[in-house]
Amino acid sequence: APPIEPHLNLEKDDRELQVRPARLTDFVGQRDIAENLSAYLKAALVRREPLDHVLLSGPPGLGKTTLARIIANEAGARFSQITAPNIKRPGDLAKILSALGENDVLFIDEIHRLPAPAEELLYGAMEDRTIDIAVGDGTLANSVQITLPPFTLVGATTRPGDLTAPLRDRFGIRFHLEFYQDEDIITILSRAADIWKISMTAESRASVSRRARSTPRIALHLLRRVWDYALAESGDLSHEIDRGAAEFAFGKMQIDAEGMTRLDRQLMLSIANHYQGGPVGLKPLSAILAEDLTTLEDYVEPYLVRRGFIRRTPRGRMLTPEAYKHLGLSGGPQGLF
Ligand code: ATP
Repeated sequence: APPIEPHLNLEKDDRELQVRPARLTDFVGQRDIAENLSAYLKAALVRREPLDHVLLSGPPGLGKTTLARIIANEAGARFSQITAPNIKRPGDLAKILSALGENDVLFIDEIHRLPAPAEELLYGAMEDRTIDIAVGDGTLANSVQITLPPFTLVGATTRPGDLTAPLRDRFGIRFHLEFYQDEDIITILSRAADIWKISMTAESRASVSRRARSTPRIALHLLRRVWDYALAESGDLSHEIDRGAAEFAFGKMQIDAEGMTRLDRQLMLSIANHYQGGPVGLKPLSAILAEDLTTLEDYVEPYLVRRGFIRRTPRGRMLTPEAYKHLGLSGGPQGLF
């Protein structure tokens, strides 16, 4: 079977839309964020003003897009979405900004990747709702200032540290999303299983949750693949998925009991075999694995660190004794341990 890297899977189809929570009360976990956001939204409604600009940071798949949509829904506002790498010139952004209507929510994903001139255009838009647009060219070039209606910008980033201070400071509200608690992942899975009418035992749900890397998007993705394998085996929509059926599917997908995929294992094995457990930077590892550096940084490494398999040190990444144990390797890292 081809290896599947669920954390790289960005599929967003109709089925996923069915389970995406539309209201804050259906948003599971992240209690601090939900409670604070609820208060800010209520206050904005009383003031009859749009919510302050919001910055959402955290690893992929934790629900930043979902939260941005919820903000629009709760405020009864129109929602539009762009991803920063698609904005090449400030003019691209000016066009989007000047099309905004009163109280609209504009979501900019991967906002740390805005080119500098576009970012500078955003400063004025966020601060006093003005943008300068160039008109004409050559010696007749001129610029006109236009005023935008009140709006809310929601920016999302996997790398809050890459944001410039002037941009970060213009967000009145900043939330950092954390990996989810196990019970929250179970709740998200149960809700989706109900909506999709998947019959499954509590044990099989736990088996999916254990491999979900504390990430809702991965949990839902795995649930659907397990459902596929179960249906292919039983040929019966009402057949209950049990733990054996779930583990069978994970065997086929080469996802181990800790939710480690083939890529995770290869990354850790490279550190063990080529660098005696580290320290080593991600760059040489990305060359060895022929894998994009950003993929390793944003999608692969954060969970390995959180799981305690990789430790970041000033000199590079180190494999932990726990990782050696998980990989079934004898020996261990030199140096720090
Ligand atoms: P990010 O933007 O953070 O990379 P994302 O916002 O694209 O991630 P989503 O698409 O929002 O990730 O989340 C994937 C799916 O997981 C959503 O469609 C939604 O169904 C579900 N989900 C995410 N967070 C939650 C949550 N807190 N409660 C319930 N469902 C959630």
